[in-house]
Amino acid sequence: MALITDLLAQGRTLSFEFSAPRDAEGVQRLDRTLGRLAGLRPSFMSVTYGAGGSSRGPTYEVVERIHRDLALTTMPHLTCVAHTRGEIEVIVERYRALGTENILALRGDVPADGPDHPAGDFTRAIDLVSFIRERAPFNIAVAAHPEGHPLATSRVDDLDHHAEKLREADFAMTQFLFRAEYYERFVEEMAARGVTTPVIPGVMPPTNAEGIARMSAANNTEFPADLRARLEACGEDAAARREVATDVATRLCEALLAAGAPGVHLYTLNFSEPALTIARNLEAALGRGVEAVG
Ligand code: FAD
Repeated sequence: MALITDLLAQGRTLSFEFSAPRDAEGVQRLDRTLGRLAGLRPSFMSVTYGAGGSSRGPTYEVVERIHRDLALTTMPHLTCVAHTRGEIEVIVERYRALGTENILALRGDVPADGPDHPAGDFTRAIDLVSFIRERAPFNIAVAAHPEGHPLATSRVDDLDHHAEKLREADFAMTQFLFRAEYYERFVEEMAARGVTTPVIPGVMPPTNAEGIARMSAANNTEFPADLRARLEACGEDAAARREVATDVATRLCEALLAAGAPGVHLYTLNFSEPALTIARNLEAALGRGVEAVG
C-alpha cells in the first residue's frame, strides 16, 4: 500500500479500474475478478463512484476488500456533484481511517433521467481537490480528457481548464482512447502551459462494438472505423472479439509506453479477461514480470 506518486517514481505502473457493482450477482462477479487480477500484483486498483443517489454503489466496500483482504494499493474515485461539504468530509475521513492514501477527485455527472438530486456544494473537480488537500495527506488524482471534455466550450478553454486542474493534482488519469497520438498531443499541450504532472492513460479493451460506440459518443472519444469494422466482423463470436480486444489494447499500451506514458490503466469493466492476457503481453514494455494465480 503506497502513494501512487512513489510507485510512479519507481517505474512504469500497471493498474486496473473496476466499477462499483449494482447487484448481488455483480458483487460475486467482481469478487472473482478481483481475486484473479490481484494475482498479477498490479501497482494499484481504482474503483468508480456514481454521481447521484442510489446509483452511487458500494465503492467503499470494494475499496476496503482490495485494501484489507488483497493488501493492494487502492484509489477510490470520488465525485462531488450533488454532495455537500459535510458529506464529502465524512467520506474522506472514512477512507483516511481505512488507510487509503490515494483518491481520484472528480466532478461527476448527475444522471439526466434519474430522480431529482440536490445541487450540492461543489461545481468543479478542482474545488474538490483543494477541499481534500486541506483534510487528508492523500495523493490526489484528477481526470483528463485528451480529446476534449464533451461539454467543453472550446479546445483552448478546455486545455486551459485542464492545465489549471493538473497543476493542483499529484497526477492525472485519462478518459479511454484508441490513438496514442491524442495522449502525446495532450501531454505536449500541458507541457506548453508549464504543466508536467504525470498523466496515466486509460485503455479500454474493445470487446463490444455497440458498447464502445455508445461510450465513445458520450465521452468524445474517437472510435476508429477500422477497429469498429474488425469487431463487427467477429459477429457473435465472443472469443474472436476478445482476441481483437486483447491485440488492440496490447498494441495501444505499447505505443503509449513508448511515447513516454508513466504507466497504463486498464478499464476492466469487471472482467478478468482480457486484462490478464494484456498484462502478460506487456511484461517487456512495462519492464516487470506479472504472475497470475487465477
Ligand atoms: P471538471 O474538471 O470539473 O470539468 C468539467 C467540465 O467543466 C469540463 O467540460 C471542463 O472543460 C469544464 N470546465 C470546468 N471549469 C472550467 C473552466 N474554468 N474553464 C473552462 N471549462 C471549464 N464519473 C463518475 O460519475 N464516476 C466515476 O467514478 C468517474 N470516473 C472517471 C474516471 C476518469 C479517469 C475519467 C476521465 C472520468 C471519470 N468520470 C466519472 C466522468 C467524469 O465525472 C465526467 O467526465 C465529468 O463530466 C467531468 O468530471 P471532471 O472531474 O473532469 O470535471
